[in-house]
Amino acid sequence: MTEQDSNVGANFIRNLIDADQQSGKHEGRVATRFPPEPNGYLHIGHVKSICLNFGTAQRYNGTCNLRFDDTNPAKESEEYVNAIKDDVQWLGFEWDALCHASDYFDKLYDYAVDLIKQGKAYVDSSTPEQMREMRGTLTEPGTESPYRNRTVEENLELFEGMKRGDFDEGAHILRAKIDMTSGNINLRDPGLYRILKVPHVRTGETWKIYPMYDFTHSLSDALENITHSLCTLEFEDHRPLYNWVIEQLDTPGNPQQIEFAPLNLEYTLLSKRRLIQLVTNKVVDGWDDPRMPTILGLRRRGYTPAALKDFCERIGITKNDSVIDMAVLETCIRDDLNTNAERRLAVLDPIKLVITSLPEDHAQTLTFQNHPQNEAAGTRPYEFTREVFIEREDFAEVPPPKYQRLVPGGEVRLRGCYVVKCTDIIKNDAGEIVELHCTHDPDTLGKKPEGRKVKGVVHWVSAKHAVPATVRLYDTLFNVTNPAAAESFEDALNPDSVTVMNNAVVEPALAKAEAETRFQFERTGYFVADRIEHSEATPVFNRVVTLRDVWAKK
Ligand code: ATP
Ligand code: MG
Repeated sequence: MTEQDSNVGANFIRNLIDADQQSGKHEGRVATRFPPEPNGYLHIGHVKSICLNFGTAQRYNGTCNLRFDDTNPAKESEEYVNAIKDDVQWLGFEWDALCHASDYFDKLYDYAVDLIKQGKAYVDSSTPEQMREMRGTLTEPGTESPYRNRTVEENLELFEGMKRGDFDEGAHILRAKIDMTSGNINLRDPGLYRILKVPHVRTGETWKIYPMYDFTHSLSDALENITHSLCTLEFEDHRPLYNWVIEQLDTPGNPQQIEFAPLNLEYTLLSKRRLIQLVTNKVVDGWDDPRMPTILGLRRRGYTPAALKDFCERIGITKNDSVIDMAVLETCIRDDLNTNAERRLAVLDPIKLVITSLPEDHAQTLTFQNHPQNEAAGTRPYEFTREVFIEREDFAEVPPPKYQRLVPGGEVRLRGCYVVKCTDIIKNDAGEIVELHCTHDPDTLGKKPEGRKVKGVVHWVSAKHAVPATVRLYDTLFNVTNPAAAESFEDALNPDSVTVMNNAVVEPALAKAEAETRFQFERTGYFVADRIEHSEATPVFNRVVTLRDVWAKK
């Protein structure tokens, strides 16, 4: 590990673990886990948790498990399990053990029976409404259920009946017997097991009851001998229950729950449950839509694992809730691609420029550098012919002040090529410009023109060699900073979240690019060859990020 690595990302969790190592707690071991529920695709919030859990394990030579918290078969699927594994691997992490809460269903049942036998759990037959009423409020204590003092025998029998499937969903629930007057509502006899007659991907029809979150989570951590159970702040109030469960039972491990602030990102919705609605309502084209904050969406958009890890390091780990600017995320990928992406030329909204001073069959092969700061990236041949495409916005018939690109009678340099001068504007009957005619100065290849300054440089592609391409320009999916607070998604959506450039042309090397290769299109932005749709015959590129920070202006 380099010096730099060891300093970035210093945080209170590291300090805490350092202290544990000093004191010999957990015998100096560090074991973490990343515990997603497979009820959707992971998003950039999960990246923070993944980097923290796997990163912490790496730092301390410890272990990190990937554990599926698969206790709600009604919402979970194998598709999500596989997607989550792929995402973690794509980020570059390897789990030690691959675990499922469902691996522990037998043990969890035995633990529940143990609690009943200790008189610390009971079967409640109140209706959900009655239970809600008896729970009390933040300011008022709860009241005890009339079923709270059932005998151990009765509880055991009913719980077994629940397990056998004797009862309908909602008829009974197993609750911990803690304290209905506790100031912490989580300790007011929380539910441990519910009846759910839904088959499970892994355990099939075996179970008619499923354990609930707090009970499952604490015991799964203990059973896997997790030392530091890192979770987001909303679980802070659950910690007393987490500890209660482990204290009552004879478990192998003695994990410690530590909470950190979840990632909140401007203009972004970070909740699997809510993202699924965007997919089912077809607001986006699936979980991997490049506008989605899912790992798969970010990947398709062109983000790299390195940029996402860099982002997590830059935002750090704290206990304070905050909202991160989009600019922070975009800066990470821009910095990565500025260093690592090769340069290419593409014209998104082309207009033809005919260099009338050249013969019809003019053919000249230039040599272009692939990366201005990295010679090792090499060069590529670049074809120049009499007709080239330039960007429509690089010509102005009536130029605005300080315009330095092509104007009637004016000169501009074709990037890496000659200086050309606009002599004629060809329009159609509708008065639209269809072609520009120019002459070139043959003495300007790799040389400044004599006796005058030409400031403007425009990118171009030989018309004969240009390959038609689809180029998609993305913006944020929402146009409000906190879409989670919006009344409805519909109101918060950005109508211009994608602009498709159907007439774009790219240099041949771009058409030949492997899917998922990233480039800087000079003067235009950073782009990736779409990992699903791109092919040499039909090139498709997604804009990853603009060349410069657009947020500073907004
Ligand atoms: P849902 O949106 O369905 O409630 P979730 O986002 O809470 O799901 P889980 O599967 O429960 O997802 O999360 C797995 C782990 O990722 C948990 O430890 C959770 O604390 C963490 N996590 C979830 N969202 C964030 C976030 N925005 N920032 C950091 N960590 C997160
Ligand atoms: Mg959750």
